[in-house]
Amino acid sequence: MSLAAEFSCLSDHDPDSLSADQARAFIRRQLTPVRTRERVALRGALGRVLACDLLAPFNVPGHDNSAMDGYAVRHADVANGGNTRLRVLGTALAGKGFAQPIGEGECVRIMTGAPPPAGADTVVVQEVVALDGDHIVVPPGQRLGQHIRRAGEDLAAGKPALVAGRLLRPAEIGLIASLGCAEVSVFRRLRVAFLSTGDELCSIGTPLGEGRVYDSNRYTIFGMLTRMGCEVLDLGVVRDDPATMEAAFREAAAAADVVISSGGVSVGEADFVKGLMAELGEVLFWKIAMKPGRPMAFGRLRVDGEEICGERGGAAWLFGLPGNPVAVMVTFYQFVREALYALMGADPVPVVPLLPALCTGALKKVAGRTEFQRGILSLVDGQWRVRPAAAQGSGVLRSMADANCFIVLEHDRGNVAAGDQVGVQLFDGLV
Ligand code: AMP
Ligand code: MG
Repeated sequence: MSLAAEFSCLSDHDPDSLSADQARAFIRRQLTPVRTRERVALRGALGRVLACDLLAPFNVPGHDNSAMDGYAVRHADVANGGNTRLRVLGTALAGKGFAQPIGEGECVRIMTGAPPPAGADTVVVQEVVALDGDHIVVPPGQRLGQHIRRAGEDLAAGKPALVAGRLLRPAEIGLIASLGCAEVSVFRRLRVAFLSTGDELCSIGTPLGEGRVYDSNRYTIFGMLTRMGCEVLDLGVVRDDPATMEAAFREAAAAADVVISSGGVSVGEADFVKGLMAELGEVLFWKIAMKPGRPMAFGRLRVDGEEICGERGGAAWLFGLPGNPVAVMVTFYQFVREALYALMGADPVPVVPLLPALCTGALKKVAGRTEFQRGILSLVDGQWRVRPAAAQGSGVLRSMADANCFIVLEHDRGNVAAGDQVGVQLFDGLV
């Protein structure tokens, strides 16, 4: 079915007033993830998506071991309700255990990570023990099995350590290393082409002519795509001229899985771009009930003459973002990010949490659209509070640079009073 037909089948979906949630859900339903896999060295897998379930070939840890520095004892010896004197036979080190078993009244000094010697079933931390020559005195109250990490407690042999679809962050890379794997199977990287449209745009490195602006969108888009681990293809500035645009979009679609453009979808410009897009593929032009980022185009561009690559179905996805620099970032984070993760094969797609914070100032908000104001979240008197950034215009990129979060004002919400709770989405997480 054509995109337009699918869209029109959905009840109460109006291209001139689509909620942000409806737009997000529609986009998600269209996308099929890439399937091609490749094996990469473990470090190269950082930020990639795991393509196969990874079963643990053995237990991690491989043996019981001490979680603390202390003494490995027999619980039966120390369970008498009073102090117990034990003879210290030697020391068990991580990687070098103590070979002999221990018997009644005996113990072994044990370091973190060392396997307890045969006979020992409990570790007593060194801080509670009194030394007395080659003996120790253990106080009462020790629990059977305490401070021993069990074999397989981290990863059990034969069980999936990670399942396909997992985005590989530093923790996952470490986990895979703990299984001894030097290589891992991941989905191929997504190729994303991007371009900026506008007669007023100058590329950096060229003099800024009268009435012109430097093209900043190409750099924010480059940054966001690079952080997501996409293979990027920068197609530069494209003039608002049908022939030039057509050539650029054809080139982009042939070269990439996804094409991201900025500018050219606002009311004044959309008509000419609409005509062009109708030639190139199937693109829906939406006015989303959100601020910033109201105009946006989504669809697919046909790839002419390409040997149809199975998983791309002879088309590239197009996200036509608005031109205003803040609107570009908002629509990228709210729609494109999730779509790209889905196309990359991430399952589940990592969500950006919406966290509660108290708003320090009053905010004007009309019900019936979602707003993404820029805010500065900070801890004040033990409470996370968010202050709106000074200038909220959709062209004021400084509001993004000064801020550290979006203040997300939901579709149905009206004005916000100072001290009200709002939801915030942080720009940055842990590295
Ligand atoms: P448009 O959506 O093309 O009507 O553009 C809306 C506003 O965003 C205009 O003020 C443009 O000059 C500005 N703009 C569009 N593209 C860019 C860009 N790549 N870098 C900086 N500003 C841009
Ligand atoms: Mg423009």
